[in-house]
Amino acid sequence: MRHANTFRAGEGTTSTTRTRLRSAGLRPTRQRVALAHLLFAQGHRHVSAEALHDEAMLANVPVSLATVYNTLHQFTDAGLLREVVLDGSKTYFDTNMTDHHHFFLEDDNVMFDVPEEALSLDRLPEPPAGMEISRVDVVIRLRRVRGS
Ligand SMILES: [Zn+2]
Repeated sequence: MRHANTFRAGEGTTSTTRTRLRSAGLRPTRQRVALAHLLFAQGHRHVSAEALHDEAMLANVPVSLATVYNTLHQFTDAGLLREVVLDGSKTYFDTNMTDHHHFFLEDDNVMFDVPEEALSLDRLPEPPAGMEISRVDVVIRLRRVRGS
């Protein structure tokens, strides 16, 4: 069972971040605190490891891309982030832990939430015997309309 521990927008103080990491079972190392701050201090977001690494560089947080990647997976395992895999090469980490679906703007590699209730799935297949559906996440791929 995962911890139901979520960060809320605006709760970005360092001591709050430390407490949240501890209650998710993670030791609040300096790198984790710094990355958590980038991730959770400004409302819900969807970031790739590469984009977060770029942000860390800009914020003078000395971390390698591998550390960013590991930290994102640790946060995901601890229930602080949700991983949204688009295909083998594109993974986004979502700070919104509620069940929801996504738009993905392919031109810009930008992911954002489909508004709640805007999509309904009224027919799902019966799962194969001995299996259950654990979650359904829909990615609606977008492109800009030419000439607009
Ligand atoms: Zn999302």
